[in-house]
Amino acid sequence: MEFETPHTLAPTNEVCLTGTPIRRGLVVGIARFDTVIASPTNRDPLPPDRAESEVQRLQDAILTVQRHLTDHVRQLHIPNNADLDQIVAAHHLILEDHHFIEGINERIRTEQVFAERAVEEAFRAAADRLSTTRDSYLRARAEDIRDVCQAIRTALIRGSLEPASTTSTGPDTIFVSPHLHVSSVLRAQRAGAVAFVTESHAVTSHAGLLLRASGIPSLAGITLPAGFVQAGTPLLVDADHGELVINPSQSTRSRLQRRRPTGPVVSQPVPPEPATCADGTAIELWGNIDTPDDMDLCHTHALHGVGLFRTEFMMLARGEAPREEEQYNVYRKTVEALRGRPVVLRTFDIGAEKTAPGLENAGGTNPALGLRGLRRHLVHCPEEFRTQLRAILRATHDSDAGVLLPMVTHLDDLRAAKAHLLAVRAELESAEVPYNPKLKIGIMIEVPAAALNLDTLLPEADFATVGTNDLAQYLAAADRNNADLHAYLAPEVSGLFTLLKLVAAQARAQNRLQEIYIAGALPTDPEHARRLAGLGFQKLIVDPELSTVLRTALASARATQA
Ligand code: PEP
Ligand code: MG
Repeated sequence: MEFETPHTLAPTNEVCLTGTPIRRGLVVGIARFDTVIASPTNRDPLPPDRAESEVQRLQDAILTVQRHLTDHVRQLHIPNNADLDQIVAAHHLILEDHHFIEGINERIRTEQVFAERAVEEAFRAAADRLSTTRDSYLRARAEDIRDVCQAIRTALIRGSLEPASTTSTGPDTIFVSPHLHVSSVLRAQRAGAVAFVTESHAVTSHAGLLLRASGIPSLAGITLPAGFVQAGTPLLVDADHGELVINPSQSTRSRLQRRRPTGPVVSQPVPPEPATCADGTAIELWGNIDTPDDMDLCHTHALHGVGLFRTEFMMLARGEAPREEEQYNVYRKTVEALRGRPVVLRTFDIGAEKTAPGLENAGGTNPALGLRGLRRHLVHCPEEFRTQLRAILRATHDSDAGVLLPMVTHLDDLRAAKAHLLAVRAELESAEVPYNPKLKIGIMIEVPAAALNLDTLLPEADFATVGTNDLAQYLAAADRNNADLHAYLAPEVSGLFTLLKLVAAQARAQNRLQEIYIAGALPTDPEHARRLAGLGFQKLIVDPELSTVLRTALASARATQA
């Protein structure tokens, strides 16, 4: 983070800060801050004789929430959500649970803690208890409890449920958030933001991926000088060059607009072309693309096809699984836009923080280690899984396509998923609906156990895709969404390359190395891409815009370096 003019800050000074681009683009707009309270909970003991006034403060906050509940719920949830009344009713029930609220008051009195802390801990314990049950109704109530907790905290800290800043909700909103959480990205989308700026460095987080797919220019690693930017301050986000300009002058706006590339860089389709290493080895580059509208990038960057399409993004934005026809239309549009190049569609990887209110999701106390991805489908919502498989089988009936299963750990996971696939195929067959009988089935290798068990898993799959983001987080036991733990995710710390060497050895022993794809942030780094080639991997899944840089880097790599 660099400040060009650190000494003379005044509200109208132009200041340029640098950060890390997540999604490219240039936009001028007005700052609006994320409305969710980010301040840490005060864990100090209450000052003497404060308990009764603290209990009163909590009562006032609860009353505020009760009065403004409908508007607040509408703001948090998708507008026009048909379930709004039900959600509001469920929230009222929680707020009227005297036994529960009296328990929180008691804690304030006997343990002398601030109301925010007593609320947070009581609500978290209640939500965690519910989210581990197998009853989907009760699990959905856990989301209600989290929402109500957030509302009470907001009212306690702010005295109202009003957003911190309500200026600039117009078409030029630039959303400023300390966090890179899926929930903050969804709030930005609902606010119709044209750009996203965050202090967090967790660019490989799911929220970072969601931003990339959302198409709005986004910058990470931006710390705004304290008190300098208010709601309504003009900002220029130049995510092509990793810059944020506060109070941009007219001449800066014109100068930066001029350095933008005009129009698409290459509009002519180019046949797939592998990157060539110094020893002549061909490394295929596959696209990491999540929206049908961006499929042209495969053609303009000479990519072999789409190696990873994260279907869950269409689900996160709306808080429910899209119906079969809607999914079919998205997948069909993707297949058609690829004009014969292959596509790999990953089934919904919901779970951990990749969730939204209303989604079937068993968080538990360790959501990242819980019923995420395929585990969630198999245990909680096999019907949702079958619907998705049906849509994929139908949409790819005339194309070269694969379905990819996230979070496979065990051979039983793969076998259960294949049984569902066979059952859906049989249904389509007997209904005489065209489907893809050659749909390949792939497994994500993102759990260390799967990486160690490739000997048993790979023989029963058509291909495997290593998810280096999750593999690193699970190896280092470091949450990929927590910017403070970023250093633990470096491959030298997590031991990722040691495990990848083992993956390569197991695949080579089966003569299947050419069926292993490498996804996540690792292959997008030129030096790491060279090391991957050195281990013998021949298929890298990358952001299309990075392909030129990677081709150059791979030109000096040797596939025999391992
Ligand atoms: C990964 O984990 O590296 C991966 C490609 O999947 P996602 O980032 O969507 O979890
Ligand atoms: Mg993953």
